[in-house]
Amino acid sequence: MSIKETVKIFGYGIKEAASKRSTYPYPDKPLPIQKRSRGMLSLDLENCIGCELCFKICPSDAIRMQKLDSKEAGFHTNARSEAPSIDFNKCIFCGLCSEICPPKVLHHTHKYDISTDNRVELIYTPFQLKDAYEKLVKPFESEYDIIKFQKAGTPPASTSKPLETDNTDGKKEKGPGV
Ligand code: SF4
Ligand code: SF4
Repeated sequence: MSIKETVKIFGYGIKEAASKRSTYPYPDKPLPIQKRSRGMLSLDLENCIGCELCFKICPSDAIRMQKLDSKEAGFHTNARSEAPSIDFNKCIFCGLCSEICPPKVLHHTHKYDISTDNRVELIYTPFQLKDAYEKLVKPFESEYDIIKFQKAGTPPASTSKPLETDNTDGKKEKGPGV
């Protein structure tokens, strides 16, 4: 290698070292979220009418209808006593369920960092979806109020209780063909 080439490479190295970093300090600093982004879903459970339309339209079989108990819920559940649970292992965040929902009680949040090493933790019961609604949607004027969301930060996944029961239990919920 000639001296000219060595100087050129050395100069390039200095220039790169002095240039602005192109990496992002995630997760210390939350990534900017785009308006109308479709993050994890949440549910205004008390106003769900149990119509099953979300369950029927989901293209990736991520939704199950789960039986609700008024005592456990702490409020009068809908006439069918059921509401959706969502398996985020399967969800493709297409937005069809929230679009078709008649009372508009399914809301996409701006939470995107839901990965975990336990697949069961990604199956959210209606109560966990309600928890997400109350923490990530209800406090804000609009679900698209990004600045407020970012100021509030992303609540840790531990705010949702891990699922204790097997969601595939056919006695408790309806799945395809049930
Ligand atoms: S966003 Fe799409 S894939 Fe996810 S639960 Fe709703 S309908 Fe199913
Ligand atoms: S979330 Fe909406 S579409 Fe799904 S069962 Fe409840 S009311 Fe019906």
